[in-house]
Amino acid sequence: MNLALLFAEDFVCAERAVLTGRRLTHLRSVLKVAEGDLVPVGLADGDIGTGRVLQFTDTEAVLQVELTDPPPAPLPLTLVLAMPRPKMFRRVLQTCATLGVKDIWLINSYKVEKSFWQTPWLSEENLRENLVLGLEQARDTIVPRIHIRKLFKPFVEDELPALLKNTRALVAHPGTSSTCPTHINGPATLCVGPEGGFIPYEVDKLVEAGCEAVHLGSRILRVETAVPVLVSRLFDAGA
Ligand code: SAM
Repeated sequence: MNLALLFAEDFVCAERAVLTGRRLTHLRSVLKVAEGDLVPVGLADGDIGTGRVLQFTDTEAVLQVELTDPPPAPLPLTLVLAMPRPKMFRRVLQTCATLGVKDIWLINSYKVEKSFWQTPWLSEENLRENLVLGLEQARDTIVPRIHIRKLFKPFVEDELPALLKNTRALVAHPGTSSTCPTHINGPATLCVGPEGGFIPYEVDKLVEAGCEAVHLGSRILRVETAVPVLVSRLFDAGA
């Protein structure tokens, strides 16, 4: 936690917030803060700044909050991600939030197991918790939007073309003839497949919708590795 993300419900008055639970434990055990210290804070979907620790007890930390700066620029990327296996999903979600992805479409695909959609990690509360963990890592405040589409064909035919408009549209797929571009730094839409990959029909449909199929070399990467590798090829640090 490189920043404590604050929500409206944490504030007891305009500039005073009270932290309990996970964030309090982190301040105590990892950051080892004491009264008088300054800690980095940010307001969800707002600015970042500092919190001066006014009181620090076993049950709460009271912070005097000053928000002074905008959060880091978002990545101009829409990520279309075949629903990963639950254990990996949690990590991928955190990584996406840390990298600055603000728009994530979770879609079905032939090799997504039906049971993946039953995971408790998709509950609103758990989505928020993991996105917050990822944002806090990056000192970001803008909570990504998650869209869930459990039918591949209607999504690709009816919704994807509008998402691809005015963006560099890519589907990452091993074994294709084009290498993934680098340093594009402009708006992009990126489709990433499930653990078993997109089937040829799905790649064809994505290409038909306007995506270019690209590869990352002969090594097959796990989804949780492929996403940060793709992002760092497409966008320069600070872009
Ligand atoms: N056996 C699957 C296949 O050949 O498609 C492997 C799928 S991989 C574990 C999961 C997803 O990560 C892929 O669908 C793709 O989107 C992305 N990916 C992983 N390695 C890749 C590579 N070398 N080139 C392009 N995409 C890759």
